[in-house]
Amino acid sequence: MDRREFLRQSAVCLLGLMMGEWKLSEVEAAYTEPMIYKRFFDFTEYKDRKATEFIVIHHTGFPGVDKDSTAAAIHKYHQEHNGWAGIGYHYLIRKDGMIEQGRQPGKVGAHAQDNNETSIGVCLAGNFEIGKPTEQQMAAVKELCYWLCRKYGLDSRKKGVIVGHRDLNDTACPGKNLYKRLGEIRRFAYDRA
Ligand SMILES: [Zn+2]
Repeated sequence: MDRREFLRQSAVCLLGLMMGEWKLSEVEAAYTEPMIYKRFFDFTEYKDRKATEFIVIHHTGFPGVDKDSTAAAIHKYHQEHNGWAGIGYHYLIRKDGMIEQGRQPGKVGAHAQDNNETSIGVCLAGNFEIGKPTEQQMAAVKELCYWLCRKYGLDSRKKGVIVGHRDLNDTACPGKNLYKRLGEIRRFAYDRA
């Protein structure tokens, strides 16, 4: 091997290593938990979830107003008004895209009647019968669902894996302007495309 050939092969090898590293870090990034603001609310009681088979998308849906909410406010409301153990959703996505932890991830939620034992509840703040989810909320819900699908081994292309609350119970939730975008969330949750 002459000097020129040696340099050429070294360059190819180095490039290969760099590409390999780049691909690895991409994959690692893809499996990394998105930024979730942990909250440590007090729950009166709750139990462990035995299985996680699907994700239910909600809106907060306050009557007549499309507004932001905090997980803390919903926690208080669900305890004091609904008489529940605490916030029923596992995740709340604020209008600025911040993801807040609600109920602890491994616990049974209170968000979709008769379906809580095997599902995760993700709620976007707003009333999407009136308003529209913000692009920050859409980006956050996609990343969250991508990560949840990997965490629980779910294939979002399959029917019933990412659903709107209205698919399960008699409700307008998650509102028509979010419901019509569930296809985007399912696609992204499969391959981030
Ligand atoms: Zn709902």
